[in-house]
Parts: sequence; C-alpha cells; structure tokens
Amino acid sequence: MIQNNYFNENEDLQLQFKEIIDWEEVVTAYEHGFADHKKYQESGDEALAYAPSNTDEAIENYRMFFESAGEISGTVIAAHAAAMDKEGLKYADGKVTFPAEVLECFEKAREAGIQPYGISREHGGLGMTAIAQSMHMEMIARGDGAFAIAMGCVNLAETIERFGDEDMIKQWVPKMAAGEICGAMALTEPNYGSDLSNIRTKAEKDENGNWRISGAKRFITHGCGLGDIPSVILTLARTGSTTSGAKGLSFFLVEGKDVFVAGVEKKLGLHCSPTCEVVYDNSPATLIGKEGFGLVKYAMGMMNVARQSISAQSMGIAQAAYSEAKKYASEREQFGNTIEHIPAVRKMLDRMERETAAMRCMLYEAARTIDLYAWRQHHMEKEGVSDREIRKDETIRYWEKLANFMTPLTKYYTSELCNSIAYDALQVHGGAGYTEDYDVARIFRDARITNIYEGTTQLQMHAAIGGVTAGMSATGPVRAYIDENLSKFTPSEHLLKLKENLEAAIEAYKNLKDTETRETNVFEVVETMARFMNTMLLERSLTKVSDAGQRAQREKIARDYAVDSLAITQANLIKLQMAPAAEPAMATA
Ligand SMILES: Cc1cc2nc3c(=O)[nH]c(=O)nc-3n(C[C@H](O)[C@H](O)[C@H](O)COP(=O)(O)OP(=O)(O)OC[C@H]3O[C@@H](n4cnc5c(N)ncnc54)[C@H](O)[C@@H]3O)c2cc1C
Repeated sequence: MIQNNYFNENEDLQLQFKEIIDWEEVVTAYEHGFADHKKYQESGDEALAYAPSNTDEAIENYRMFFESAGEISGTVIAAHAAAMDKEGLKYADGKVTFPAEVLECFEKAREAGIQPYGISREHGGLGMTAIAQSMHMEMIARGDGAFAIAMGCVNLAETIERFGDEDMIKQWVPKMAAGEICGAMALTEPNYGSDLSNIRTKAEKDENGNWRISGAKRFITHGCGLGDIPSVILTLARTGSTTSGAKGLSFFLVEGKDVFVAGVEKKLGLHCSPTCEVVYDNSPATLIGKEGFGLVKYAMGMMNVARQSISAQSMGIAQAAYSEAKKYASEREQFGNTIEHIPAVRKMLDRMERETAAMRCMLYEAARTIDLYAWRQHHMEKEGVSDREIRKDETIRYWEKLANFMTPLTKYYTSELCNSIAYDALQVHGGAGYTEDYDVARIFRDARITNIYEGTTQLQMHAAIGGVTAGMSATGPVRAYIDENLSKFTPSEHLLKLKENLEAAIEAYKNLKDTETRETNVFEVVETMARFMNTMLLERSLTKVSDAGQRAQREKIARDYAVDSLAITQANLIKLQMAPAAEPAMATA
C-alpha cells in the first residue's frame, strides 16, 4: 500500500477541504451559535474544551483532526492492512479472536482521539458535521476497508444518543466514545435480509415486565465485540403478531454478554471484520423509544447514517484502488516504457480520476443535505420544541427530503463505482493484480460488499426513485434544488443536454405501462439522475477553485465526465423509450 498522509497528500481531498466545501454553512448549522463553546466558558465542562468559538476555529480543528486521521490511516492502518487480511479471524466456542494488528490499530486510533467522530462533545465525542464524518471515514477506509467498519461500529452510539432515553445515553454513549464498548446493529435474519418488515425474532415481556428476546440474527458485524471490548447490539425484534409487518417491530438494546455468537462467516473479503451469527435465548433487552416504531423510525434512522458511512467507505476503497493503480502504472514497464503511457491504460486511469472526483462531490453533497436539517432538528428538540412544530419547519422539511433522496442515490452510485474502479485497478495491474502479492486483490475483494450491505443497490433504487419522480414534479424539492444550483453558475452545453435527457427519461419512465415494467427500468432513470447530478456538482465546484492550473485540470475532468454521462444517459433514454414496445419482442427472443 502507498504509505503517506492520506489527507495532506490527496490533492482532490485538499481541494474539497480548502476551497469547495462551504464550511461556514455547515459549521453554522452544527454549532448553533457556538453554544458548546459558550457552555464551556460558563461551566468549565472539559468535554466541551475544544468546542470552537467561530467558523475559522472549527475549520482549524478539522484540519488538525484530519491530518492526524490521515497520518494514522496512511501509515499505521495501511501498513497492517495486508497482514490483517491474511491472518483473518478465528472462531472457537462462541469467541472470536482478532489479528493482533486490528487491536493495535484500534488502540492507536483511540490514543490519537480520532475514534468517536459521530458522537456529540457532550457525551465524549468529537462533535463533527456529517461532511467531516464522511471525510474521516473515507480516509480510514482507504487505509483498510475492513478496519474502517470497526470504527463505524463504535459510532453506532449516535443512534443511542438520538433515540435512547437519558439513562441509556449516560450508561452507554460515553463508554462507546472512549472505545470501551463497541456497537453492532442486528437487523438481518437467515430468512429476511432485504425484506426486513417480515423478520421473526421475537421480543416479549417476562413476568416482571422486562423485555426478553429470542431468535437468531445473521451477518451481524461486530456482534462479538472487538477483542476484549464487548458490544451493545441494537436489535430489531417483533413485539406484534407474526402478521403485524413493519408496524409490529420495535428496537432494543441488548448486551453482547446476553447472546451467543454461534459462528463467523468465511467471506470473499473484509477478512478482519467479524460477520457473526447471533443467537438470542430469552436475552434481556431494553426498549429504545416507542414500541412499534422499530423499523420505520429507529432502524431506518440508523440505516440512513450507516448508508452515508458505507458511501464514505466506498469512496475510500475507490481512492485506494485508483492510487495503487496509478502507482503501479508509473512503475511497470512494457514495450520499453512505463504502462501509464499506453493509451488504453491511460484511459482507465483517467476514468478512475474523474469518477473519484465525481464520487467525492456527491458524497459531500449528500452529507451537506444531512447537515442542513439534522442539527437544526436536534437543536429544536433540545430546546423542547414539539414534534408537531418541528415537522412544520420549512428548512427541516426541505433538506430532510433532499437527504432522504441523496443518501440512497449516493450509496448506490459510490458503491457501484467503487466496484468498477477496483475492477479497472486490478486490470491495470495485469496478472500481478490477480495474485495476493499486490494490495489491489484485497481492495477488489473488499469493494464487492459495498453495494450489498446497508441495502443492496436494488433497494437503494427503491428508496431513490420517489426523489426522481415526485421530487422532480413542478413543485418538488429536487427540482427546486437543481434550479437553485443551476442559477449559481453558467451550465455547460453538455450539462443542459443532460438535463434534457433527465427530463425525457423521467417522462418515459412515468409512461411505462405498469409497475413491473417500471421496476424493471428503475435503474436507467436513477442512473440518469445520478449522472446529471454529479456533472452539475462537478461544474458547480469549478467556480470555487482559485488556482488556474487546478481549475483547468478540473474543467477537463468535468467535461470528460459529462461526455461519459451523455453517452450513458442517451443509452438509458433509448431503453426507457423502447421499454413498453420492446417487452413482447424480448419475450419471444
Ligand atoms: C459482510 C456483511 C456484513 C453485514 N453486516 C450486517 C450487520 O451488521 N447488520 C445487519 O443487520 N446485517 C448485516 N449484513 C446483511 C446485509 O445487510 C444483507 O446481506 C443485505 O441487506 C441483503 O440481504 P440478503 O443478503 O438477505 O439478500 P436478499 O434480500 O436475499 O437479496 C438477494 C438479491 O435479491 C435482490 N432483491 C431482494 N429484494 C428485492 C426487491 N424488493 N427489489 C429488488 N431487488 C431485490 C437483492 O438486491 C439481491 O440482489 C451484512 C452482510 C454482509 C455480507
């Protein structure tokens, strides 16, 4: 693996951090009048000591934090990634043993204080905006995609902070922030994966009125904890009848000591990340929030955060793939020259460069939509504003709708592109890429999970399609958002043509003859939206780049991305416009 500082040495990331991201906007949304700093001055509460007093200070804090995270990921984690993968996990009698390097990396991250990125300062966390969290996860995942999940699991404390009661928060969140407790989320069962509304794990009250859970969960990451660090398992279970569907599901906290880990999966990738089978046998459980809201409110809320985290993981893995391929191509000689000069190889590397730049724009924009509603909502809740009033708040309504659309759109796009970039990166390595001598083999294997877990790409399509159709109606929030963006710069001809393709694709999609035909063609219309969106975000970013050389380079990236997008969206349009008529012909073929 390339070993350097994954923050300082990444030009595109630097450009995003220094010029493209509007930190003023998101820091203002997060800090709420820099309330934590004021509280610190009044109370002297050490947990709030590093709370910034203005935006510049917040940016400086982020810079120091990212430099530290970039250093640990780019030297310590990246240095151990191959060994952690090779050694993998061992399982015996309910206990999982980790490679020593995993525990060492975890300890290093804990010592450096870069771990609790998703937790508020009040409870021992770092208090970071969603954009900053995504940036952090991206860097860690570049070092090692599997290890990054361990850090993500600690930050499941965010869900407890958001939905748990005061006692639960006090009992668990500070310990998770300190890295003394790991988190796990238990939704999937052997017979129910995408179809979560039908899960069977049962929660019932015992004679003392305490909740008990029985059943089995599959594929539970860190259900076993992490070394000697135990887990709390956020568990979805049925409190209603077997036919009660989503409304009969509730959400619980279960301690790892109260379940049995029946095994860990042997997997294609993520070899040092434990994917556990967890058995609940009358296990004590504490209800989170209200009965009946387990899936629709709490698990969905948790998954939205986790989806953004997987988008950032995809970004990091894609960056690792691209960087390793670029390095290899600059060293490997064939026909008397390094292969980076061969047009066919150059073409693959150029595509990786523009796709990673586009993914990064999209990742941070999705995070921005979260930043612009979630903290406002959080502060209003803290101030005792009623749910009814919060639901009426126009700013929250607008950005929440956009976040609910951008999160699945981004998860689909970044995870699919992470795979295709890893595929090309391996191709650039030729036969060497197919051996375990080079990191790209591991990167390729690890990439493969990103478009499966936290909801497969097909499920992300379901979640995003409403934003494409209703969101693009005359008064829809996505249309308003796009119009607002397009009014801020002069769109290229390519972007305007892409917009035409998008409008035509939506029209054609809406005109498809029935639900089944629409479900068959959902990918084409959602992909068209993603390609338009990313071209727009790339062009918007050009207005922020001050250095002429960097701007010229980025203009080329944006133009080439737009050309790819025109070709893809044109093909999608043909498929969508031909769909109803093509169906009988395809059936006879
Ligand atoms: C390494 C790993 C870690 C994981 N970690 C966790 C964890 O920590 N916690 C947890 O709860 N789960 C976890 N999972 C489970 C993961 O979220 C599921 O595997 C995933 O949601 C898909 O469910 P499934 O495997 O049952 O596939 P299925 O639901 O059986 O899907 C199979 C195929 O059918 C398609 N499909 C299914 N339904 C539809 C539909 N309605 N429309 C279109 N296509 C559809 C899917 O896209 C897929 O292609 C993990 C899985 C893995 C492999």
